[in-house]
Amino acid sequence: MGTLTIYAMANDFRIQVYGHHWAQTLLRRALVRNETRHAYLFLGPEHIGKMTLARAFAQALTCEHFSDEFGLGACGQCRSCRLAAAGMHPDHRFFAPAGSQLLIDQIREVVREAALSPVESRFKVFILTDFERANVNAANALLKTLEEPSATTRIILISHQPSGLLDTIISRCQLLRLRPLPEETITAALVERFGLEAESARRLARLSNGRIGRAFELAQDPESWQTYYQRIQQLNETLAYSPAQRIAYAQKLEKQGQQVETLLQEWLLWWRDVLLIQNNSHTLIVHEGHLDELTALAEQLDPTLVRRFVEAILTTSRYLRKNVNRQLALEVLLLKAPVQAYNRTQ
Ligand SMILES: [Zn+2]
Repeated sequence: MGTLTIYAMANDFRIQVYGHHWAQTLLRRALVRNETRHAYLFLGPEHIGKMTLARAFAQALTCEHFSDEFGLGACGQCRSCRLAAAGMHPDHRFFAPAGSQLLIDQIREVVREAALSPVESRFKVFILTDFERANVNAANALLKTLEEPSATTRIILISHQPSGLLDTIISRCQLLRLRPLPEETITAALVERFGLEAESARRLARLSNGRIGRAFELAQDPESWQTYYQRIQQLNETLAYSPAQRIAYAQKLEKQGQQVETLLQEWLLWWRDVLLIQNNSHTLIVHEGHLDELTALAEQLDPTLVRRFVEAILTTSRYLRKNVNRQLALEVLLLKAPVQAYNRTQ
């Protein structure tokens, strides 16, 4: 059963936002007072629901029967709300990087359209995602529109990498810093949305590490589990590598850009499970389906080594967020990975 069916059954087309309650309240109040800012910047790690919040806000901005009752206040019934839920509202415009960059031509399109009146609603809403990937020229091209916007234009920039943004952009937006969601929020969302049993919902929530988008993806798509384990396997295979091979692999990893941070989070949870087995805390294990493999690692490796490696993954993740020399950080991490002739048990 797809999400659309669920909406249709309830005859409610509100775009639902899980968690981020303070942000929802702040935006709803601005809507109620008719004091929304012309530009917003939603900042926070990947897959925590920034785009969903932006879509829900856009829905509320263009709703024909806005009320101060639920969520962001969209009625979820009107034509405008239905179009928004289907991602087909003519006044909601989405821009994502074409390839590796958000191009100046895309920004010029935003600037041109932002000067025009909305097609059918009170506001025209532009949502620009992964804005850290706008090159300097593209970002500069947006400055004037951010500074002197048309009264009916609202711009929402989304980014998970504040270090990639120009100060001049940040200072022209209302900044909302969003955080990963608590495990309970994601657990409840999985139960409500996908009808999962509480226990499997909890495990999935833990695995997602506050990133509700990842949890939803895994809950909906069995294939995403397979690719998930393949990623872990690939990383684990480096345990059998020589130092030179590890350095070469670090270079390959570095080229994956922001994906690396997600990868490290996943690897961290895997090694945390090894540590949990070594400490006989089986109930907290996330990767239950791979107990044999985890147990083999737990038995073969010195717990001190595993603990140090878990700490090293945490430190590296912190470094990567600070945008230090990424390749060096990854090389150091891989060289610290426990050495072992790694045998797959499956
Ligand atoms: Zn509505």
